[in-house]
Amino acid sequence: MRKFSQQFKTGVSVAAVVVVLLGVYGYRKLQALAADPTGEKDCGPAVGGGEQAKLDLERIKAIAPLKDVKWSQLGGSINDASCLNRTEIYGVVDVRSVDDIAKTLAFARDKKLSVTTAGVRHSMGGHAFRKGGIVLDMRGFNKIVLNESARSVTVQPGATWHDIQNALHPRFAVRAMQSTDIFTVGGSISVNAHGMDHQAGALAKSIKSMKVMLADGSLKTVSATENPDLFNLVVGGYGLFGVIIEAELDIADNLVYQTGRRVMDYKEFPALFAGEIEKNADIGLMYGHLSTAPSSFLRELLLYTYTKVDGSDFKRQPLGEVSGVKLRRLTVNLSKQGPLFQEMKWLSEKHIEHRMENCTVTRAQAIGSAEACLVNRNDPMHDSVPYLRNALPDDADILHEYFIPRSQFVAFVDGMRKVLTDNKTNLLNASVRIVHQENNFLTYSPEPAFSLVLYINQTTDDEGNRRMKKATEELIDLTIAHKGRFFLPYQLYYSNDQLQRSYPQINDFFAAKRKFDPGELFTNTFYQKYAS
Ligand SMILES: Cc1cc2nc3c(=O)[nH]c(=O)nc-3n(C[C@H](O)[C@H](O)[C@H](O)COP(=O)(O)OP(=O)(O)OC[C@H]3O[C@@H](n4cnc5c(N)ncnc54)[C@H](O)[C@@H]3O)c2cc1C
Repeated sequence: MRKFSQQFKTGVSVAAVVVVLLGVYGYRKLQALAADPTGEKDCGPAVGGGEQAKLDLERIKAIAPLKDVKWSQLGGSINDASCLNRTEIYGVVDVRSVDDIAKTLAFARDKKLSVTTAGVRHSMGGHAFRKGGIVLDMRGFNKIVLNESARSVTVQPGATWHDIQNALHPRFAVRAMQSTDIFTVGGSISVNAHGMDHQAGALAKSIKSMKVMLADGSLKTVSATENPDLFNLVVGGYGLFGVIIEAELDIADNLVYQTGRRVMDYKEFPALFAGEIEKNADIGLMYGHLSTAPSSFLRELLLYTYTKVDGSDFKRQPLGEVSGVKLRRLTVNLSKQGPLFQEMKWLSEKHIEHRMENCTVTRAQAIGSAEACLVNRNDPMHDSVPYLRNALPDDADILHEYFIPRSQFVAFVDGMRKVLTDNKTNLLNASVRIVHQENNFLTYSPEPAFSLVLYINQTTDDEGNRRMKKATEELIDLTIAHKGRFFLPYQLYYSNDQLQRSYPQINDFFAAKRKFDPGELFTNTFYQKYAS
C-alpha cells in the first residue's frame, strides 16, 4: 500500500512537471531536446590541438592504398566523441586480423605514413588519430573467450565492456572498467581506465598479460612480470608504443549487491570514506554525485553504494538495456537550459528517480530504488549511456577529470566551485570516485586520490571553445596547486608547462617512446602537440 501511494504521488508530481515544462518550453523544443542522435556529430576542425602537423597532404593523398586490407575510408576526415576535432587523414583500415595490422604497419613504414590505433574514439583530444595518418579501426577485431577455470577472459582489443559483460553473465562480471560500458578494451588499457569498483583500482591491476605488436612488426608478450618496463609504458601509453592485439583480464564473481544511497555534505565525504567505506570489504562498488543545482552547487553529495549480500536465492535475469532513454536525455538536456532546470535535475535525482524505478537491470535504474534493492554486479556496470548522445546542433558535452590527493578534497572542491562559477560553466554532472596508487609509467595517481569527473556543456562556436579553454586552464592550475594530476584523454587546452608540472615524468615518457619506436610510426594529435 505504501508503495502504491508513493507511486501515485510520484505519478502526480511527474505529470505536474510535464505540464509546467510544456507551458514554459513548448512541445517542439522538448521533442528536440529528447530526440535520438541522427549519426556521429562532426562540429568542427581540431581545436586545442595546437598547430597541426605541417604535412604535404597532396603527397600523402597521392599514395596508392595497400590492396591487401579493407579500407573503410580513404581520404576525408575523422572526429572523436567531443565532435570538435575534425582531422584530415590518409584513411581508415577496418582491422579483422593480426595480419591486417602487420601488413598496414609494413605499408606505413614503407610509405613514411604514421599510424594511430582507434577504439570507439571517446578520447576527446584527437588521441585516436592524427593529421595525414592511417587509423587502425579496431572495433571489428573483438573476439571474446571466457576461461572459466582460470577465472579470466581473453579478448581482442576492439571488444567493448558491453560485449564482454554479455559474454560473462550470469556467472562472472568485469573486475575493472570505466563507469560506463561503451569503451573498447584497447582504448581503456591505453588510458588505464578506472570506474566504480573502488577496491579493484584501475584496469592495470586486472591485466594478466597482453600481446603487443611493436613498430617493427614484432610481437611481444607483456605483463607485470614479463617485459614489465614495456607493460608499464603500454598501460596508459595512449597507443604510442605498439598495437595491443590481445589481453587476458581477471574477472570477478557476479555478486549480488544491495543498493544504498545517502545525501551528505561534501565535507563529510573524506572522513566517511576513510572511516566506513574503505574498511568495509563488502561494499563492492561506490561513487558519489555532487550537486550541480545552483542552490547547493558542489556542496551536497549523493553517495551510491553496492554492498554484497547473500545471493543464493537471487534469480539472475538476462542483462537488459537502459530504459526511458528519451526521458533521461530530456532531463540531461533540459539542465543545460538554466538554473531552474538544474535545480529540477538535482531534485529529481535526490527525490524522484529512485521512486519511479524498481530494481531492474541498469545502473541508471539500480540507483533508483527507494527501498532495499538487490542487483547483480553486472546490472549497474551494464550502462551504455545512450541518453548522453543527442541531436542538438552546435552543442557538445565535454569530460574532464582531476585526481586530487585525498587530504585536498574539500579545498579542491571549494576552488573548483569558484572556477566554475566565475566562468559561468554549464556543469551537467560532477562525480566523485576512488583512485589508488597506480604504477604505470605515465601514472595519473602516484598516491591514493579522489577523482573529480566533470561533464560540461559548451556551444561549438569560437566563444564556446574560448570559454572551455579558459575554464580548463584554470582547473588544471588549481589541480597542480593541490598536487594533483589531470586526466590526459581529454581536450588539449593545457600548455606544455602545465603538462610538465602535472606529469614530471612526461619527457622521460616521450624519450622511452622514441627508444621503442625510433621512426615515430605510432603517433596521435596529443603526441604531435606536446612531444615536438
Ligand atoms: C562520456 C565519457 C565517459 C568516460 N568515463 C570514463 C570513466 O569512467 N573512467 C575512465 O577511466 N575514463 C573515462 N572516460 C575516458 C575513456 O575511458 C577513454 O577515453 C578511453 O580511452 C576510451 O576508450 P575508447 O575505446 O574510446 O578509446 P579511443 O578513444 O579510441 O582511444 C584512446 C587511446 O587508446 C589508443 N588505443 C586504442 N586502441 C588501442 C589498441 N588496441 N592498442 C594500442 N592503443 C590503442 C588510441 O590510440 C588512443 O590513444 C570517459 C570518456 C567519455 C567521453
